[in-house]
Amino acid sequence: MTAKIIDGTALSRQIRSTVAQRAQRLADKGRRPGLAVVLVGDDPASAVYVRNKVKACEEHGLHSVLERYAADLPEAALLERIAALNADPAIHGILVQMPLPRHIDSQKVIAAIHTSKDVDGYSVLSAGELLAGLPGLRPCTPFGCMKLIESTGEAIRGKHAVVIGRSNTVGKPMALMLLQSHATVTVCHSATPDLGLHTRMADILVAAAGRRNTVTADMVKPGAIVIDVGINRDEAGKLCGDVDFEAVREVAGWISPVPGGVGPMTITMLLVNTLDAAESIIPGTTA
Ligand code: NAP
Repeated sequence: MTAKIIDGTALSRQIRSTVAQRAQRLADKGRRPGLAVVLVGDDPASAVYVRNKVKACEEHGLHSVLERYAADLPEAALLERIAALNADPAIHGILVQMPLPRHIDSQKVIAAIHTSKDVDGYSVLSAGELLAGLPGLRPCTPFGCMKLIESTGEAIRGKHAVVIGRSNTVGKPMALMLLQSHATVTVCHSATPDLGLHTRMADILVAAAGRRNTVTADMVKPGAIVIDVGINRDEAGKLCGDVDFEAVREVAGWISPVPGGVGPMTITMLLVNTLDAAESIIPGTTA
């Protein structure tokens, strides 16, 4: 069997066209959706990430503000800026790019963002909403993975889903979202003794370990949906995921590639979250 490719770039394009329409509808009502992106320090990778987020906003009719601060910005000053953004009616989503410099307590900063503007979905309150099955803003990467899985048209209900990784930003929320969609969920991590024992039972397998070749063909159930979240480099310096793509595509039913799978969906879901946040404060506005 050769797996069908789950094309994150194409799905992203499709969702982004609805984003642009929704943004226009809100703008017509005098409320252009706005995202504030805050970057502290000069980490080059973070600078690229925030630029891409701001560019995506501009291309889809959202208002965006990029606030850049020196690496020695005091924690209190950052908290003051967040309080100001919380109170700013032109801003519906606030994203503080991680990692923050060591002298700043990132948990305190995330907690300072008002839950209704927490478009990264990283706060304890947002995590609690997900855990309790309440509506709320969901972390963008696992939210994007759900959209990729749903795009296959295969049912999630009643399936066995295995998630490799238990980070607060990817693995745990991913497991909870699959559970909420009525999958039976197993979560694996670095202390799982026999990873293959679990992955071979997965109808849906999400790999988010951050380690190349974590999933090889012998670890995949024939016909499974395989979502590769990992971002790694091979010996030649080429971008690759956690899954041995060429071999696994001969076993799986569906597979998302790296690049072109989860990556484009992450920023797309940030735009969706910002719109959801903006729409939720206008009674009667629908998607
Ligand atoms: P993380 O915080 O480092 O978490 C990695 C998780 O994988 C941990 O729970 C770890 O277990 C587990 N793990 C590591 N090696 C393992 C192994 N051999 N077997 C089983 N589990 C193993 O990373 P993350 O932030 O969740 O991100 C995971 C990957 O996704 C990274 O490559 C990251 O770059 C990528 N990512 C991509 C996007 C995107 O937009 N495409 C977004 C976010 C992240 P322990 O908990 O026991 O340590």
